[in-house]
Amino acid sequence: MVYNFNAGPSRLPDSVVHEASQSLLDWNGSGLSILEVGHRSPTFVDVVEESRLLVRELLQLDAGQQVLFLHGGASTQFFQVPMNLLDARETAAYADTGVWSGKAIQEAKLFGKVDVVCSSKKQGYRKIPNDFAVSNDARYFHITTNNTIYGTQWKNIPFTSNPMVADMSSDIFSRVLPFDRFALIYAGAQKNLGPAGVTLVIVREDILGKVKRNLPTMLDYRKHIAEQSMLNTPPVFAIYTCLLNLRWIKTMGGVAKMESLNAEKAAALYGELDQNPLFQALAEEPDRSRMNVCFSLISPELNDQFRDFAKQNNIYGIEGHRLAGAFRASLYNAIPFSHVEYLVQCMKEFTHKYG
Ligand code: PMP
Repeated sequence: MVYNFNAGPSRLPDSVVHEASQSLLDWNGSGLSILEVGHRSPTFVDVVEESRLLVRELLQLDAGQQVLFLHGGASTQFFQVPMNLLDARETAAYADTGVWSGKAIQEAKLFGKVDVVCSSKKQGYRKIPNDFAVSNDARYFHITTNNTIYGTQWKNIPFTSNPMVADMSSDIFSRVLPFDRFALIYAGAQKNLGPAGVTLVIVREDILGKVKRNLPTMLDYRKHIAEQSMLNTPPVFAIYTCLLNLRWIKTMGGVAKMESLNAEKAAALYGELDQNPLFQALAEEPDRSRMNVCFSLISPELNDQFRDFAKQNNIYGIEGHRLAGAFRASLYNAIPFSHVEYLVQCMKEFTHKYG
């Protein structure tokens, strides 16, 4: 048994991995592998349609929001968003809360002006900025709802008059948010949604078609909407596995249920970090992410020992990002509470041995 706390790609529910693997051999008794079916076959078109409907239902989207399954990862959205929404003379507002928002800011500068309205860089990205204003003129306001590397999370979505754009790669489907308040949401699938290789984009049609530049076909959201994510061959297996996972979320009780389970897991781990004398949580208390828990040992020389100890105990994927510190345990939807208890138990044993 391996306890997988990787930041992404990350653990998927056992039942999803099991059904996906069965479908590699024989999909629904068709005699074909899911890898071999035509993307325009009626059965696969049904997969895309059901996935789209489940996204709408689970996130309670409204009729103006279109759901797309695209290629290129969230990193492609860093430039596809400004390419579609921002003219060269216009300004977009961005919140700088870590590595990923920094990359989004850099890419947006290729297409228009960028106003970084707030930054937690001076605080080592250990918190979410709370004192800022966004000019009414900004074409949109971009936030990263969960900062995977530094382990911080926007607990409240700010109210602005500007269209809101969000990178939700590492917390979509993990908590209830006012999803219908967003003009555009994007998320790489490989955390709470499914395997790597597909990116979810939710976009309001009425914000499109306003920029003057010509858009390459594959980067034009309107073309993808018109073709229902079938502009070219979509990542068939990745979308199919997302569907299995979306069904799992629904069966489990939906996003509100995910949120309460995730809150319990995060409370258990932060609780141990706060009371164990050898460990410390790195993000500031009010902004702590429930998805990515960043921590270190109080004395740096113990970090190596805990790394070895975790490995000996079959704990996988808790290395912190090199920019952010020693350890990070990612507690996405598919991580059972018992795995968090196991990690906490290992921390207690470590403390008993080395404390
Ligand atoms: N945004 C966030 C918040 C992320 O966590 C990541 C990847 N971990 C990315 C963007 C980049 O995603 P991708 O690898 O899908 O391009």
